Amino acid sequence: MTDRDTTLSGQRLEWTTDLDQARALDATDQLAPMRSRFLIPTGPDGGRQVYLVGNSLGLPTTSTRHYVDAELDRWAALGVAGHFTGEQAWAPYHRLLTDQMAMIVGAATEEVVVMNSLTVNLHLLLVSFYRPTPQRHKILIEAHAFPSDHFAVESQIRQRGYDPATSLEVLAPRGGEETLRHADIVAAIERSGSELAVVLLPGVQYYTGQVLPMLDITRAAHAAGALVGFDLAHAAGNIPLDLHDWGVDFAVWCTYKYLNAGPGAVGGCYVHNRHVADRSLPKLLGWWGTRPDTRFEMATTFDPIPTVESWQLSNAPILSMAALRASLDVIDEAGGMTALRYKSERQIAYLDFLLERVLGDRIQSITPRPLAERGAQVALRVTSPGHAGEDVQTKLEQHGVACDWRHPDVIRAAPVPLYNSFEDIHRFVAALDRILR
Ligand SMILES: *Cc1c(COP(=O)(O)O)cnc(C)c1O
Repeated sequence: MTDRDTTLSGQRLEWTTDLDQARALDATDQLAPMRSRFLIPTGPDGGRQVYLVGNSLGLPTTSTRHYVDAELDRWAALGVAGHFTGEQAWAPYHRLLTDQMAMIVGAATEEVVVMNSLTVNLHLLLVSFYRPTPQRHKILIEAHAFPSDHFAVESQIRQRGYDPATSLEVLAPRGGEETLRHADIVAAIERSGSELAVVLLPGVQYYTGQVLPMLDITRAAHAAGALVGFDLAHAAGNIPLDLHDWGVDFAVWCTYKYLNAGPGAVGGCYVHNRHVADRSLPKLLGWWGTRPDTRFEMATTFDPIPTVESWQLSNAPILSMAALRASLDVIDEAGGMTALRYKSERQIAYLDFLLERVLGDRIQSITPRPLAERGAQVALRVTSPGHAGEDVQTKLEQHGVACDWRHPDVIRAAPVPLYNSFEDIHRFVAALDRILR
């Protein structure tokens, strides 16, 4: 059954609901071989799960274990000398990750460092970039901000002697709407105007999957005299980013979602190079932020590394970084974010088609429709009478499909172009169809 034509990236595709088409799409997909580079959990039937929760925890690569083992071996062989021995010496080990990570977020090498974890990095950067004055003291966040971001911002405001009741500005979608209108975001920034110190928004909203217009937000924030930071937890490794050229002041992200570095893995951090060498910025200091050539003289005069590395506090978690290296190497091999996004857009369009055609009004997507406003994740609300969304998610698991459930009423599913196939998408929609019948 041929249905409608979809024009995508210059290609004219005729989607159908046939499983054979899903398999044909996989057969011609240039990234299809990457799937075999990942370890995919087993479903209840003993086959591979349809793993659509890479937005929550990405999968290990087949080489992750070897990268980690290599560091365990070096530890066993060298002991403390491992810090300074060989090309993978631990003292500068984080630098092995910088170039690849900078490519992923669209930044220069001196603007990116891998360290700590997301919320910790957010606090460290707010210490530097949230400098409230009685005139300019507000932080703008979204009403549905991830709770950790909300807590971090609230506690930063209190820590400086201000009150979230008057210094925290929250931005919500209009009544009856799910996502933020671009004009409303810009209007909120303009409204706070001279009282606005920092705009802190997500690159991709974790619940709805909406991609926010980061360039427009940055311009509006700067026009208001405010600084802008992005939480890229759901954006890094999912959509192409251009932080430096957009002029974004700072950003933080985690590496265990689309960057596959494993549970609790080390976080990422970006500061625009107009700020990196600014010695007037308040900053929490640690020995890993001082220059390595004097660090071990145990000098007590802080001599900042002239890059974002000066925000580092502690020596780095090498095993976690080894796992991240494995994943970044696989992403490079796949052709980087351009190649991933190319496939991702086709997967999104294919998923949209199947949802609409097979499920019709039994399910409602609250993710924006235009490709430019979304990444890999779709957020679905079950509208079929007699089916609670949470039960549907449990039944999906019994059908070998891993999705996640987010309170109050949304199932999130994210086909990840590195390891999800078109057949996975077909199996997901077929399982939903059976469950909701
Ligand atoms: C996943 C996620 C986090 C998690 O924070 P950690 O400090 O890594 O535990 C924070 N914020 C957002 C928006 C997220 O999606």
